[in-house]
Amino acid sequence: MHLLAKCPKCDASLPVEAADAPPSITCGRCGQLIPLNLSAPVRADQAVDACPVCSGGDFYTRKDFDPKVGLAFVVAGAAISAVFYWFAMDLVAYSILGAAALIDLVVYGRLKDLTVCYRCHTEFRGAYPRTAPAFDLHTADVLEQEYERRIGRR
Ligand SMILES: [Zn+2]
Ligand SMILES: [Zn+2]
Repeated sequence: MHLLAKCPKCDASLPVEAADAPPSITCGRCGQLIPLNLSAPVRADQAVDACPVCSGGDFYTRKDFDPKVGLAFVVAGAAISAVFYWFAMDLVAYSILGAAALIDLVVYGRLKDLTVCYRCHTEFRGAYPRTAPAFDLHTADVLEQEYERRIGRR
């Protein structure tokens, strides 16, 4: 399992290999020492049951995609179809828009899921079965505040 640990102090993303993770890592940006408590299922890539960074047990599942790439794709599709529209080739313009939307759907459907810790936003990628529910805004609000109070950010 690959982890993307989030530094509690500066939010930097720190890649960690769960199978041979050290007991603690140092943040490359702010120098914060971050102790890692990897549970046996996390180490063995079997399940995400406890977060190694904040020891929280609440996670959500989301699609593993880069929103910037998705947006660039939509903008490019719209720009190309606008050119055809300008030359009064509406039908071509609409089919390009349609094709772009379709490709978007296909790409989205094929994306893998990743698990994210509600409290510290550490990300988990691996072969383990995804059991965490979808993102819930209310849960996120409550747990993030609890975590930030605990680490003294507010
Ligand atoms: Zn840091
Ligand atoms: Zn966490």
